[in-house]
Amino acid sequence: MKKTMIIIGAGIAGLSTGCYGQMNGYSTEIFELHNLPGGLCTSWKRKGYTFDGCIHWLVGSNKNSSMYKMWEELGVVQGQKFVNHDEFTRIVAKNGKTFILYTNVDQLEKHMKELAPEDTPLIREWCNVIRDLSKVDFPLDIEEYSLGEKIKTIKELWPLIKNFRKYSKTSVESFAERFKNPFMREVIPQIFGLDEFSLIPLLFTLAWMNAENAAFPIGGSLAFAHKIEKKYLELGGTIHYNSPVKKIIVKEHKAIGIGLEDGREFFADYIISAADGHKTIFEMLEGKYVDDKISGYYRDLPIFKPEIQVSIGVNRDLSNEPHSVKIPLTSPIDIGGQKYWNLGFKHYCYDASLSPQGKSVVVALLTSNYDFWSELYKTPEKYTAEKERISSAVIESLEELYPGISVQVEVIDVATPMTYERYTGNWQGSMEGWLPSTKGFGIRMRKDLPGLKNFFMAGQWVEPGGGIPTAALSGRNLMKKLCKKDHTQFIKKG
Ligand SMILES: Cc1cc2nc3c(=O)[nH]c(=O)nc-3n(C[C@H](O)[C@H](O)[C@H](O)COP(=O)(O)OP(=O)(O)OC[C@H]3O[C@@H](n4cnc5c(N)ncnc54)[C@H](O)[C@@H]3O)c2cc1C
Repeated sequence: MKKTMIIIGAGIAGLSTGCYGQMNGYSTEIFELHNLPGGLCTSWKRKGYTFDGCIHWLVGSNKNSSMYKMWEELGVVQGQKFVNHDEFTRIVAKNGKTFILYTNVDQLEKHMKELAPEDTPLIREWCNVIRDLSKVDFPLDIEEYSLGEKIKTIKELWPLIKNFRKYSKTSVESFAERFKNPFMREVIPQIFGLDEFSLIPLLFTLAWMNAENAAFPIGGSLAFAHKIEKKYLELGGTIHYNSPVKKIIVKEHKAIGIGLEDGREFFADYIISAADGHKTIFEMLEGKYVDDKISGYYRDLPIFKPEIQVSIGVNRDLSNEPHSVKIPLTSPIDIGGQKYWNLGFKHYCYDASLSPQGKSVVVALLTSNYDFWSELYKTPEKYTAEKERISSAVIESLEELYPGISVQVEVIDVATPMTYERYTGNWQGSMEGWLPSTKGFGIRMRKDLPGLKNFFMAGQWVEPGGGIPTAALSGRNLMKKLCKKDHTQFIKKG
């Protein structure tokens, strides 16, 4: 008889777990709090515009990469068109000078040397690491390789091992300080603009872009999630939407089922949570199955802070403008005591499906403070007023970039940390789980909980670094582990 499995959450990790579960003969059911698949990987429509809330780059978009094979297994890349950008972003400094972060490393090296000739050795070092990492391909199923293939693969992974040792504890800011050129010292930390961010994920992002392996999927994030949902349903899986899980039912230290907010209960042989880690461990399981290590993560490790996403539909064609640019502001925007001295804007004109013809979607993302929003949310009028104030401030800044644009705005939408929390249940509205910081990057987290049988976790809260490929891979790896436990061979198609 088929073993049964309940999966909590229809984000990318939950959907992937479900797909591989079905492929491997388990009878799976997903319970999702929202009425849509995708979790953080989402988009929403307003007045004919589609505002994308997630994918800027999808690792594994290059046909020659291993990750592409996983996307094929999940049915997302068949017939999928991708856009590889020539520029990752542009950063304009206070003096008006512009740094163009080209995705092609040779072009980037040339540009950086022109901007900062005195830093030539450091620029060469940085670009050579990007070149090195561009060659790294993470094998999906190394355990299936022969000894010879394993040795070859480990040799190919050497640039990763070497550079990881050298740079994972270096933050982007401290690396930037090595530049003699003040302009470089100003712009490099702004690429991601995150405190304590390890240099390695930045270098990897640039390497994947250089290898044309981190593109934008035409149609956007929700369309992408719907493709995996379709695959899951075709494989015979079941999804229960609008079904928030309140508790995990445990009998004699064995997870046996779930209880929904509406009181209904469901039972299965395995319970997998691909939902928020904090809620799963400390609420659904009442903190009964933790050790010092796990509680230490939630106490000490930095997370990706939540974002405010301001999405704007404008009656203006921006397709000839750079798709991503960060500008300094004449006067800062103050949100909850945090001052923003610069602001990044992205337009999505490279994907015609996201806006009416001749019009454009523009998005600004601002990293924010959860406590501020959580307090404000208690008073609806204040919350709405703050969103309106932010809208006006962002439009004013956009006007600095594109004069005359404020009168062309047709729709504006502000998603706050509370929006992320409401729709995805993520702890403190986090956009991506654990930050790949100089502290937390590279930690291997366990996928079960101490003392609890038949329960596992998948997704960004057990894979530091987050991201869509990591979430999908997390589900895939978990199914491999379960197949091994149940003495069956892992199957990756269906
Ligand atoms: C603005 C933004 C930009 C991003 N850009 C990129 C990018 O360019 N590339 C990239 O790779 N990644 C990007 N990410 C990160 C990526 O979206 C996430 O890391 C990834 O989608 C996480 O997937 P997940 O399945 O682990 O978690 P989630 O997406 O959080 O899925 C968890 C699911 O569980 C559900 N759930 C929660 N609680 C319950 C409950 N009690 N009962 C039932 N269901 C529940 C949620 O509704 C959700 O559907 C971005 C994220 C954001 C917000």
